[in-house]
Amino acid sequence: MKKMAKKAPKKAKTARPRKPKAPPPSAAPKASEAALPRDSARSDRFLPAVWKRGPAAVLGMGRSGLAAAKLLAKKGFKVLLSDERPRKALRAAAAKLPAGVSWEGGGHSDRLLKCRFAVKSPGLPSHAPVLERLKAAGIPVFSELEVALAFLPAVETVAVTGTNGKTTTATLTAAVFKAARRRVHLLGNVGVPVCAAVAGVKKGDLLVLETSSYQLEDSRRFLPEAAAILNLTPDHLDHHGGMEAYAAAKRRVFAWMDRRHSCVFNADDAGVVAMARSCRGRKLFFGRSPSTMTAAWPEGGKILLRLQGWKKPVKLSPPKLPGEHNLQNAMAAALLGAARGVKPEAIQKAFKAFKGVSHRLEDCGVRKGLACVNDSKATNVDSTLVALATMPQTKTTLLILGGRPKAGGFAGLRSQVERRVKAVLSVGEAAARVETDLQGAAHVFPCQTLEKAVEVAFQIGLKGETLLLSPACASFDQFTDYEHRGRTFKELLAVHGGKPK
Ligand code: ADP
Repeated sequence: MKKMAKKAPKKAKTARPRKPKAPPPSAAPKASEAALPRDSARSDRFLPAVWKRGPAAVLGMGRSGLAAAKLLAKKGFKVLLSDERPRKALRAAAAKLPAGVSWEGGGHSDRLLKCRFAVKSPGLPSHAPVLERLKAAGIPVFSELEVALAFLPAVETVAVTGTNGKTTTATLTAAVFKAARRRVHLLGNVGVPVCAAVAGVKKGDLLVLETSSYQLEDSRRFLPEAAAILNLTPDHLDHHGGMEAYAAAKRRVFAWMDRRHSCVFNADDAGVVAMARSCRGRKLFFGRSPSTMTAAWPEGGKILLRLQGWKKPVKLSPPKLPGEHNLQNAMAAALLGAARGVKPEAIQKAFKAFKGVSHRLEDCGVRKGLACVNDSKATNVDSTLVALATMPQTKTTLLILGGRPKAGGFAGLRSQVERRVKAVLSVGEAAARVETDLQGAAHVFPCQTLEKAVEVAFQIGLKGETLLLSPACASFDQFTDYEHRGRTFKELLAVHGGKPK
């Protein structure tokens, strides 16, 4: 696997050598790729030595863009960082840039067109006009992820993707490999860009990468040893321009796999099953019930695991986390570990110690009689549905809903709200839509702010009921991000609800 590409120049030694012979059908190049300059047989792959001959453009001065620019500068590239945000907003980040990196704000100038290649931050939509300009000029665009991989020594990579559950599953997967005494780096969408971690990675380490569709869409040659696709529901459609493009981005996680690589799929998700058909890797399915297809399923409170060649299924106690969705996450993590040779005992050890990840159905204790749960990470209707499914089947949940709404509204929540929610406390830009979509399903209290919502919850909530923050919306209307929203919620609980019991 780590063989050098035949004609690669000497300096490309650090490049992550991936050399599938011919692209499988699922990886057919997009028109934009076909238009790449053919000065190198591998011009669609990021090989440092090939691309060093000219300056690099990095689009976006967020966490990923800054990490990519710093890495490239360290490796001797001249870099131009470019961002649409006003210069004023970028100055603080710009002050910390190393020598060799210049920057521009307030838009993307024609200086970009003098660059030899560009690196795209994941947040930049694939239909952004600057990408069209680069394409027209024949300048290839690489993902931050692939740039990072090119500078890594020979490592093993395991990727986790899906609409919901990525962080939980990637974190648990990392714990599984750690329990097997591997040196593990948990990177990507979970908060640490891969470019930022390159210096600390040693040969033989294992990288668990949380890969969002944003990161995958520009990764042409990404080939992890194992990957999992947890689920596929409409999300980020504005960014991708439609469901098919979103699914195509996810498919890239296994586009180059063959029988030496493993891909874990959710057998209960029709979109994921459809996707699996085009995968050439070893397919491992997890599902609600056993079948000839499933390698992991729940039974009697346990997870059963059975890989090819195992005489009988192995029983594991799942992590103590609420909801069927967390069983799915655990099955995916177990299969990723098992597929890469982790023994069931190590998987069990990791499961036992795992306490979940903050802001995902996080237990915040009982305050003034109310069980408080922080699920700030629920940024779409599907993840709020998953949260509601863990609540009692009585109308005893006080649900804080709202923020910056996503397409589609909240009607999808109606039946669960009718069954389980005593009151909806609406906040943020979505308030009016929440009221229209959920009218009659439960009483809706317009609260506007999180502070007001928590205050109202403690006024109307009765002993034994649950206060759940699971907003089904992005947080950017009132907060920096979902973590800021979750932290604020916990601070407000302390103000209005006192110490947890
Ligand atoms: P991601 O990184 O994909 O956003 P997280 O693990 O951060 O996923 O969880 C995000 C939200 O999705 C949480 O609110 C959680 O309750 C919900 N969730 C977690 N796992 C799943 C799953 N397997 N299927 C559906 N929803 C899930």
